[in-house]
Formats: sequence, structure tokens, C-alpha cells
Amino acid sequence: MNEQRSLGEPGRRPRPRSRSRGVLVISVGLSPQVVTETVYALACERGEPIDEIYMWTTSGGASVIERTLIDGGRGALYRLFAEYGLRPPEVQTKVFGRAADAPAGLRLNADRPLEDIRTREDNELVADTLLSFIRDQAADPSRRLFCSLAGARKTIGPYLALALQFYGREGDRLFHVLVPPHLEADRDFFYPPPGSPPGLIELVEVPVALLREHLDVLNVPGSPSSYSELVRRVEEELSHLKEPPLLRIGNALEVFIGENHLRLPALARVVYVALAARRARCLPECPGCDRCFVPVAEVQDALLHQPLRRLVALGGFKDHRLETLSRWSSSESTMEDRLRALRETVSRINREIGDRPGRRAFRVARISWDGSSAYGIQLSPERIVVPAAVTSVWDS
Ligand SMILES: [Zn+2]
Repeated sequence: MNEQRSLGEPGRRPRPRSRSRGVLVISVGLSPQVVTETVYALACERGEPIDEIYMWTTSGGASVIERTLIDGGRGALYRLFAEYGLRPPEVQTKVFGRAADAPAGLRLNADRPLEDIRTREDNELVADTLLSFIRDQAADPSRRLFCSLAGARKTIGPYLALALQFYGREGDRLFHVLVPPHLEADRDFFYPPPGSPPGLIELVEVPVALLREHLDVLNVPGSPSSYSELVRRVEEELSHLKEPPLLRIGNALEVFIGENHLRLPALARVVYVALAARRARCLPECPGCDRCFVPVAEVQDALLHQPLRRLVALGGFKDHRLETLSRWSSSESTMEDRLRALRETVSRINREIGDRPGRRAFRVARISWDGSSAYGIQLSPERIVVPAAVTSVWDS
């Protein structure tokens, strides 16, 4: 597999096997020229490889595309490929509302290809379709998205831009093409003929702030397909930056952050519940003290072992991995062993909680004072809800 590969035929650029696939997503109304203009600006002038083209449109737009751009391989798009020596990409026309074209995660009420986008329902369908389509495309790390805002009704462009803002990754791009007025008015103009001076068609990049790295809702598999539902969940998550959701410990020691069940392996769960119970006992405004955080000295002296054992009994855990608890005890471990066991467990917990802004208050933090340090959860104590039986594991 790793043998030296030839760099290809003369005159063609080498193509590393690992190159990402260039995917052009473009909304098209009744002016199909935007497609050829965008392909020209991207591929011919910028040298961006395009492997797939998806044209999202209405049923009226699809007929125009078929007649002018496709035409059994003789349309303007294929003439452009041929005249500029581009390898023809995979080209698909997709119609909003047509069941066969709907993205996998989107449920349509009916197979009803949109003839036009007029009503509120039509708009919602377009928004949900583009959102699901971009989400699916962006889930594949080998694909690089070029989204074009040119063309189509004015409602489509913003939804495409917002979908990319939610799900886009570094390297994905949003464009707009600008064509001089005299050419824009010319229905027969599709792209500048070979030999034209460059820059006739201007590709304007539209910057987008990529959000998916910062929000849970954009990353979980069950991310909603409905645009309005997604916006609601994004707003909810952003509001958690101001006021975090509750951290709740269930009777069977389950951990909930707001509505989300945090799944931790047994040992990590026992430690996290112990830290939550300890923090919950302090005053609301406490930034962290030796009452609500566990000082390193307590870990070293194996004082943490006892509450952990009580929680294991309380939760009725049978998990054999809890046998590692002996590493925390006074008789079977050194001070270094115990501290290392805590550090390892804390990183396991924090990996599971993640580092997104809305989650940071729930992580286990280490704070220091007077040359000593302590571990605990920084979330304000009054936002932690723990059953009384769990809190009592800290009673001596
Ligand atoms: Zn405190």
C-alpha cells in the first residue's frame, strides 16, 4: 500500500489518495448560471477540486437545470468541464420536498416536490432540509464543503449559511459570486470562455463563526433535524453559560447534568458522586474551601477511602473494576498510589464531561491555596441536588 506512486500523467496535478472530497452545495432558482459561474470561479480560477455537486432547487428550477445545465451531458455545465479540462464530478439535482431527495434523517409528511417557496410550511421544509443535508455531509471528515449563496429565492441562502454555521468544520467555505451587471442580464452567459482574463467573476468568501466545537447539541447523534427545534436547543444551551443546569444525583447514584444522563464507569461515578455530595454541603457563594473540596492531604491519608466504600455499598455496585478501590485504602497503598488513582479517575470524569463552555462548571477542578491543593466541582453548591443518604457518606 505504501509503495512509491507515480505522480500521474504529464500535465496533470498529482492527487494524493488522502485528499478530501470537494463537495459543492448550491441553491438554484430560475437562473442556473450561478452554478457554472461558481464552478468556474472555484475550479478554474482557484484550482479547488470539485468531486460532487448538489444543486438544491424547486421542481421548476429542476426543469431549468435539466434543460440548460445537464441536457444529457451536452448542457452548459458539461461544456464547462470539457472546455476547461475538468474531470466531471458527480452531479445531482435535488428538489425540496421530493421524498427521494430528502436527507436520511429528515422525515417528510408527504412526497410533495415544492414548485415554489411561498408559505411558512415551504420555508420550514427548506430550512430543515438544508440543515439535515449539511449536517450529514459535515459528519464525514473526508468531505470538504463549498456552499454557495448565489441564486435561488432569498430565503434559501440564509438557511444554507446558518446550517454551515452550526455544522461546518474548519476548511468548509461559504461563498457568494458576483458577476458584472451586463453579464448578469445576459441569459446566454454561463461562464467566461477559455482565454478570458481572470477575475471576471468574483468569488466572495463569507466568513462564518463555526459553532459545533462549542455546543453539545451540535455534536450528539440525536441532534434535531428541525431547524426551529435546533435553534431552541442552541439557545437553551447558551443560556446555561449564564446559569448552569442542575447537577442531580439519583437514588441509584445516577448523574444528571440538566436533562442529560452522564454515563461514567463505576469508579469514576462513585468518585464524582462523592465530590458532588461534598460540594452540595457548602454555602452558595463558596468559591471552594476545604469543607466542599477534598484536600490532597485527605487523599494521601486515605480518608477518602471510607466515603467511597459507603457509596459503593449504597449504590449496590457489583462492578469488579471497583476492586481498584483498594488503591485508595490505608493498608494497601502508598500516598503516591492514592493521589495517582484520584488523578486518573478525575481525568476520566473530565473526559466524559467534555470541555465545552456550558460544561466547564461540572468538571472536577483542582484549586490551590496556602501551598496546598484540593479537588472538587466548581458548580455553585445550591445547583447540586443530592439525596440525603448520599450526603451522609461524609458524616464521620
Ligand atoms: Zn466551601
